[in-house]
Amino acid sequence: MAPLTEQQTSGKPRRVALLGSTGSIGLSTLDVVSHFPDKLVLTGLSAHSRVDQLLEQAHKVRPEWIAITDIDAGQSVDRSKIPHGVELVVGPEALARKVAGDDVDVVVTAIVGAAGLLGTWAALEAGKDIAVANKETLVMAGPLVMDLAKRRGAKIMPVDSEHSALFQALCSGKPEQVRRLVLTGSGGPFRGKKRHELESVRPEQALKHPTWKMGPKITIDSATLMNKALEVIEARWLFDMPAEKLEVMIHPESVVHSLVEFEDGSIMAQASPPDMRLPIQLALLWPERPNGPTRRLDWTGAFAWRFEPPDTDNFPALRLGFEVARQGGTAGAVLNAANEEAVGRFLRGDLAFLDIAQATGQVLASHDFSAHPDLGELARLDGWARREVGRWK
Ligand code: NAD
Ligand code: MG
Repeated sequence: MAPLTEQQTSGKPRRVALLGSTGSIGLSTLDVVSHFPDKLVLTGLSAHSRVDQLLEQAHKVRPEWIAITDIDAGQSVDRSKIPHGVELVVGPEALARKVAGDDVDVVVTAIVGAAGLLGTWAALEAGKDIAVANKETLVMAGPLVMDLAKRRGAKIMPVDSEHSALFQALCSGKPEQVRRLVLTGSGGPFRGKKRHELESVRPEQALKHPTWKMGPKITIDSATLMNKALEVIEARWLFDMPAEKLEVMIHPESVVHSLVEFEDGSIMAQASPPDMRLPIQLALLWPERPNGPTRRLDWTGAFAWRFEPPDTDNFPALRLGFEVARQGGTAGAVLNAANEEAVGRFLRGDLAFLDIAQATGQVLASHDFSAHPDLGELARLDGWARREVGRWK
């Protein structure tokens, strides 16, 4: 079991920087923190362009600082609306400096997409612990990020519900006793549909998730099963497990969040209603398990939990995830950037639903692979992949 952190033994609240406070994970994190005023305190909040919402949060929470990463939005803020004593910084680099400050113990990375890498990297360089929601960071640069955390003595705790479940289940044994990690997924809004039924899917249909309420990008990723692909890659690096030991099962109820099978045949699963506040709480307070805001399972009635294998013929994005988890190197950054661009085009009505996986797969296959890239090469390929998908027809 992980040792208690310095703050937990000192009795002082852990000082949290929340990157992406206006998003779905950001709002859940604010709720978790508000439940534990003696254990957690917010030092800083960041948002990209939703300035009014960020200012409202700042009035409520009174952090030391707020950051607006969109430069135009940040420069046009009416400074008289900022609460007294709260510092405003503008731009991604300014945010990166803030997360490294002495007043931060742990950083929740709830920014969506590749934009989450900069702040995560800066925090790890400064030796800060990370509660990682931004899976794209690990997909793009998993080996570099995990290596940096190791060198700086920073802990990375998963916020993604599947990885939180795996982390908890893995505590039942040793890494060498693990036979496989089984990630569960709801199957998204189009579970059971065939390719011809998916051809004409519109954004508003794909944005209706059956069990989770999330930001638009991850909701589309859930509809294509790209989210599960990204999560396979995330698990590959987070737990240092070879791709051969990773599996996916569809579980429409989203209550069993993932399972670990050990060599002796034991399977350890973690179950709880679909509510991100629990994995967020765990990431911030582990190994404590206080009663928090999370919904609980109702055991008074009958219910069933279903499990079925994923349909990779109709949802080919998932196959790409396993491929990339096997390849490593530059593949993750290309997959991630291509998918982000394709999802953006789909949401703008500029690309068909099935083309998201199609375009991403083609760009991935045609890229100039290298096995041990540095951050500069990953950034270059990120730009290249976006341009390729941008002109994909
Ligand atoms: P969201 O769209 O609701 O919120 C995104 C946040 O990031 C907002 O605060 C926004 O201001 C900020 N942001 C957007 N673009 C930015 C940019 N270019 N630079 C800096 N900040 C920017 O997204 P979400 O659903 O909260 O997801 C956030 C992350 O957490 C994603 O990586 C997602 O995969 C992961 N995640 C989310 C859930 C969930 O339940 N929502 C579950 C697991 C993992
Ligand atoms: Mg997840």
